[in-house]
Amino acid sequence: MTAKIIDGKAIAAKIRLRLRDRVDQRVADGSRRPGLAVVLLGEDPGSKIYVRNKINACAEAGFESRVHHLDSTTTQGDLLALIDELNKDDVIDGILVQLPLPEHIDDNVIIEAISPAKDVDGFHPCNVGLLAQRRPGLRPCTARGVMRLLDEVGAAYKHSKTVMIGASNIVGRPTALELLIAGATVTVCHRFTKDLRSEVERADILIVAAGKPGLVPGDWIKPGAIVIDVGINRLEDGKLVGDVQFDSAVGRAGHITPVPGGVGPMTVAMLLENTLLGAEMRDRKTGPHEPNPGAGKE
Ligand code: NAD
Repeated sequence: MTAKIIDGKAIAAKIRLRLRDRVDQRVADGSRRPGLAVVLLGEDPGSKIYVRNKINACAEAGFESRVHHLDSTTTQGDLLALIDELNKDDVIDGILVQLPLPEHIDDNVIIEAISPAKDVDGFHPCNVGLLAQRRPGLRPCTARGVMRLLDEVGAAYKHSKTVMIGASNIVGRPTALELLIAGATVTVCHRFTKDLRSEVERADILIVAAGKPGLVPGDWIKPGAIVIDVGINRLEDGKLVGDVQFDSAVGRAGHITPVPGGVGPMTVAMLLENTLLGAEMRDRKTGPHEPNPGAGKE
């Protein structure tokens, strides 16, 4: 068996085109373009690339965007003051603070300072709580991106055993909550899981977000499984690889995402979708507590 490759880059490009049409329609109807503010502290090369990708995607889809590039020595107080300004700024629908932040700043304090209605990363406790209660508002982007890829290949959530490797706040946990909403039976594995192999072997749908290159060898994968590799790891020779051993997995899986070109572009597309949703919610003067149209139910 040779797996079908799930082309996240092409799927994300299609989503961005559809978003562009929706933005054009909004503007034709007399509304303003959705606006995203990205806040970046310091000079981390990886973070700078992620921010550049997000800004380019905004421009391509007709969104307004603004980068606040601050020094790494910016105080928590100054960063909070900026977030307060952006919360009140009428042309900004989404605020994204690029993580990780320098050590002297508490990520949680910053995430909680962002208005839940503009929390396009979906990390505010209010938005995470809504997701846990199956009435999602703004939803974490990578988890949404994973779900859209699974939808694209027709994943039969309700009758599948699904294994999520990774339990972080950013990827693993919200993805497990999304899968539950979709009706999947979910096992969440993490660094303390005993016998990871036996969990993986039973998975009809396998999602891996551990940040460990080659953690899952191909021969662990159930023949025909759908494999979504969220991991992005840069090897010493500069090559980017996922958490799954792609070359051997491709001979076992039914569908598999490549790295790069799988989940990464979807995360950016979902950020734009959240920003547009934020703008629409603000037009309607509803909060993120209003369920998204189409939000699923288990
Ligand atoms: P994290 O370090 O916060 O969490 C990693 C999780 O994996 C933890 O729950 C940990 O317990 C688990 N884990 C670690 N080693 C394990 C092992 N040997 N066996 C089982 N579980 C193990 O990382 P994160 O922020 O969730 O990111 C995970 C990966 O996803 C990274 O490679 C990151 O770069 C990538 N990522 C990709 C995107 C994207 O858009 N494609 C977005 C975010 C993160």
